[in-house]
Amino acid sequence: MTPTLTLVQGDITEQSADAIVNAANSSLLGGGGVDGAIHRRGGPEILAECRALRASRYGKGLRTGQAVATTAGRLDARWVIHTVGPVHSAGEDRSALLASCYRESLRVADELGARTVAFPAVSTGVYGWPMDDAARIAVETVHATGTAVEEVRFVLFDDRAYAAFAEYVR
Ligand code: ADP
Repeated sequence: MTPTLTLVQGDITEQSADAIVNAANSSLLGGGGVDGAIHRRGGPEILAECRALRASRYGKGLRTGQAVATTAGRLDARWVIHTVGPVHSAGEDRSALLASCYRESLRVADELGARTVAFPAVSTGVYGWPMDDAARIAVETVHATGTAVEEVRFVLFDDRAYAAFAEYVR
């Protein structure tokens, strides 16, 4: 089965979905951008669970391209899936790591039994990934997974991001 891909322009913290994906950093202890917004709106329960994960399984942090789930706190979701995108590099092709973020997030979503998953445009903020390339990788990777997730929703913060994803989601 290939999931239905949908596009929404807006704030991912306002979405209702089984799982909301966070573009986290490897510390799992919060940051700016979408990460900050998710923790602010989702409340302290999410950070508490992230801290517990740091203390148990991820003492050295979550590796780039990996994903792990926590509660969604006060968000209108059952889980937040935290994934660590790669920092874009002009000199090194890190696209396999960006693809891994989508693949691993959907693998975790499948383990949880999530049917709807909302993704931000991972790595396209502070991590500097060109939006068009990020959109292509996101859409191609999701299409290539054998996920049981029924709807993958890309939640794009601005017009430019929405337009980039719209080129690949038809
Ligand atoms: P990264 O460090 O992976 O680049 P950022 O959070 O800096 O993560 O940015 C990832 C993308 O998320 C950017 O395109 C940014 O515009 C977007 N973004 C920031 N806040 C939100 C939000 N509340 N909802 C959806 N997307 C957001």
